Amino acid sequence: MFKQNYSSTLLEKAVEEFASLPGIGRKSALRLALHLLKQPQENVDRFGNSFIALRKGVKYCNICNMISDNHICSVCADQTRDRSTICVVESIRDVLSIENTGQYTGLYHVLGGIISPIDGVGPADLPIKELVERAQSQDVKEVILALSTSMEGETTSFYLYKKLSALNLKISTIARGVGFGDDLEYTDELTLGKSIENRHLFKM
Ligand code: ZN
Repeated sequence: MFKQNYSSTLLEKAVEEFASLPGIGRKSALRLALHLLKQPQENVDRFGNSFIALRKGVKYCNICNMISDNHICSVCADQTRDRSTICVVESIRDVLSIENTGQYTGLYHVLGGIISPIDGVGPADLPIKELVERAQSQDVKEVILALSTSMEGETTSFYLYKKLSALNLKISTIARGVGFGDDLEYTDELTLGKSIENRHLFKM
């Protein structure tokens, strides 16, 4: 591959760091690094420090595993949320997408992954036991499975359904205006909002 000469090893290092991010090629990485170079020192300090602080200080909610500043996230702590419904999602990004729709007022359970034998992720690697424990609470009346329609997503939904079906609650899944295999985060808010509203009973 063509090796660019950056004339400065400091610049080269910065470009390499940016280029290590998903979706950032070397050209964009160079543009970003040069942009930062033009900014006042304090802005660049703030920029860099925000990532250091994020990585060091981030917490995950003890209840739903959502990213949080505290041990209980703002959704779980919010007493006005509907505590009878838990929406199960793969990732933090999915929670953010669903929250953006403004259509959902219940709670979440973030799996942090899906069952994927190829990637060596089995049910025991995901907080499924915790979900079942939560679902056993008197308050919970419905669990919404909002996982992707990829093969792994379907396998995970099916597994969760089997684990939860013995409990006395409604198990639903979001309606699919969403194409098969689409990630929730790429769905526009209106479609995603509708797909939650039009959810239906989970069928095997
Ligand atoms: Zn939470």
